[in-house]
Amino acid sequence: MNEGKLSFRPVAQAFRPEESAFSCACTKQIPRANTALGMTFFASFPKPVQFQVIFFHALLLFLGVLSGAASAFSANSVSSALNLFPVSSLQTEKPEWCKPLPRPEYKSLQRVLPDDPWFEVYKVAPGVFAIYEPHQAEETISYLIVGNKQAVLFDTGMGISDIHKVTTKLTSRPVVVLNSHTHDDHVGGNWQFTFVYGMDTDFTRKNAKGSREDAQAEIAPDQLCGELPKGFNPKTYATKPWRISHFIHDGFTVNLGGRKLEVLSTPGHTPDSIALLDRANGLLFTGDTYYPAPIWLFRPETDLDAYVNSVKRLAALAPELKLVLGAHNIPVAEPSVLPRLVNAIQAVRSGQGTVKAGGEGKAIHSLDGFDFLLAAAKKEKN
Ligand SMILES: [Zn+2]
Repeated sequence: MNEGKLSFRPVAQAFRPEESAFSCACTKQIPRANTALGMTFFASFPKPVQFQVIFFHALLLFLGVLSGAASAFSANSVSSALNLFPVSSLQTEKPEWCKPLPRPEYKSLQRVLPDDPWFEVYKVAPGVFAIYEPHQAEETISYLIVGNKQAVLFDTGMGISDIHKVTTKLTSRPVVVLNSHTHDDHVGGNWQFTFVYGMDTDFTRKNAKGSREDAQAEIAPDQLCGELPKGFNPKTYATKPWRISHFIHDGFTVNLGGRKLEVLSTPGHTPDSIALLDRANGLLFTGDTYYPAPIWLFRPETDLDAYVNSVKRLAALAPELKLVLGAHNIPVAEPSVLPRLVNAIQAVRSGQGTVKAGGEGKAIHSLDGFDFLLAAAKKEKN
């Protein structure tokens, strides 16, 4: 056991003002809409709102070409014209994924800080707050877990609004960030925090340098539901780089004062995926290894053999758990879901279940109420 002696103090947050300008060879993200509530993949074909946007872009391009005959025309003139229009103002129709929102499961949860325009915050267990982002298709959920002396923020969300400010309203104790993994929708606010612990993997180190492409794809009109926060600048939106203040490993524990969290390495979705176990309170925070919506297992960094081993490890804990808390769509699930998840992914890998197209290069495999978004089998070339 690697006891985490958390000696971090409540020092002033070292905000880093620099903008990042990095490229990332990542694939465009698609919504994680819950199948039961109707799932749509926007990557497959343009929706009416997209046609409008495409038409609008084409019109600007046409006008730009006309004006270009008389003056020095460059691609910049089009992009600067586009930047006059905030992304949200292009949105005239609700995307499919946001029509079933708010999800009914939230009705029974205790909402706090109801005035925040971007985050919805719910108290889901004593000292545990789910910080939900329902206005973006990922519907990412970060968790603030508060002890007597300090708190852990498990993920920092999209980086679209100020999650640091939210945490200061929920606790005055010093906060350390741990990430369920370092996909951009879970690390967007990392740069705002002095104490960010990271798994000791090359994947984590690479992502800590920041990226821009995935972030930009996530504010396309079909990815948004409602207004972006005031002051948000779509033009400069990127996942900002962050400093890893301490590297952690499987078995690392964090003592928050009256509450202990154990880090369980759960590689599969990514090499640096972890779950957090609050054993005394029967809480398991599963990140993207499990959440109640289609589970994304198609990206090149995903390792399906490792994923199966990880879900087996989590399922073995089910008898001692009260609540499973995943990182998208809905924050609460029954622990009995974990052994069923093991059976479902194994059955899917052995060819059982139904298969539908899931957007470019992907297939959605469904079985026993679970959906897995996997890379589509490559067609044999003659
Ligand atoms: Zn992820």
